[in-house]
Amino acid sequence: MPDSVFKQTTHSSAQQTSELDLVRQEIIDGIPRYSEHGPTHASTCYVWPSSECPVGCGHCNYASPLSLDRLTRYSVARDPGPVLRLMNSMGLWKAVLSGGGEPMVEPEFCERFVNEIDSPGLEEIELITSAHFAADPAETRLRLERLVEAWRSRSPDLARAHFSVRISLDWFHAQRIGVEPAARVIRVLGDPGMRDVGCYVRSVLLDNDSTMADLSAMLGGHLTELRDYQQEIVLPDGRTILVYYKNLIVDGRMNERKLSRLPIGLPTASRADVFGKRFVDGNGRQVPARTYNGPQVRHLDGLACLIDDDGRVRILEGNDPHRCVNVRDIDHWPEAVAYLYADPITVYLVDNGPQALAALISDAFPEAATVAADTNQLYHLTELLLTTPERRLYATLRALELHVEEGRVTVEPKLLARAWQALADEGVPLPGRG
Ligand code: SF4
Repeated sequence: MPDSVFKQTTHSSAQQTSELDLVRQEIIDGIPRYSEHGPTHASTCYVWPSSECPVGCGHCNYASPLSLDRLTRYSVARDPGPVLRLMNSMGLWKAVLSGGGEPMVEPEFCERFVNEIDSPGLEEIELITSAHFAADPAETRLRLERLVEAWRSRSPDLARAHFSVRISLDWFHAQRIGVEPAARVIRVLGDPGMRDVGCYVRSVLLDNDSTMADLSAMLGGHLTELRDYQQEIVLPDGRTILVYYKNLIVDGRMNERKLSRLPIGLPTASRADVFGKRFVDGNGRQVPARTYNGPQVRHLDGLACLIDDDGRVRILEGNDPHRCVNVRDIDHWPEAVAYLYADPITVYLVDNGPQALAALISDAFPEAATVAADTNQLYHLTELLLTTPERRLYATLRALELHVEEGRVTVEPKLLARAWQALADEGVPLPGRG
């Protein structure tokens, strides 16, 4: 099966059993609970009903066609109970159906999610879609009406959350399916009975790209100036549709060589290092695990999490992807987050973010700094950094030693010494350790 680039990376490494990973586990099992770590509730959680998408954009690392493999693999979309149970104990502000792939290849799951997702403070439920489902006006109306009905018929015992549809549309999408499907969704959501459903567009910032102008023209609207990665389509019916832009991921399916052959270009503002400055917190750190990266950036009081289609639960760039919990194994979020925070890497990433982790391990693995500097994506850096058992154990020990100095945890010196020795035996250079 043509799995996503992300999954190819993580799954192939996860299958290797390694002595060093066992040593890492021994460390995690051998230290007491941290006396201090990041927040325990999740402010946002993105769930992927599927990791596949029929659109197949040229820049997308999830553009795999639908395959038979999905029928044999565990899927949260075919077993909604566990994922809803876990998410409903997270303490969310915002719950999002996203990808990965295209959520609306699993419409029944999306409807049930919109109907049942809950947390005491839940304010927003969002569907992120390519609008591929909007094949014609009748189908568009039918699918949206079902979703909106699922939202309207939420039990009065559940939080009264807003519902929004975020359409992903950029130059690459438009090459595959045009702008018509997005226009159909926007039109239907302009019906008098649908006006309370939020709608906005997320695009990719490129030079020589007329996609938003084309969408605006198709809707008979006009496009405002681009400011701070945002503009608006002002529609004849009085609505304004926000369009906001992100950077282009040039890492994986798209690369510099392919990009150079296309009629569009990559503006400086679309480079991850420039775009990423939007997300820097008050301490000068970029911590995806604590950030909402929507049109208005929010630094969260809780965690940003995601659950992929096979049930793996992660903190966004906030834990070792080889060490996750799964919705099938754990019923309630407090148990899941305790498991994740038992790992010094999680504690470090939630405090400092993946760029800091790259710097932390770059004395022994100089290529980590290069990876962090060169990747034109804000996410999946943790996967790229922690690809080998050597790096995972080294990151664990460096983070743990810092945390011991800070008085947040203790470790048996003999256990630590054995772990360092295991790394030295594997030929890992250990700067400053003789
Ligand atoms: S629509 Fe989104 S998920 Fe689908 S291929 Fe394009 S970028 Fe990827």
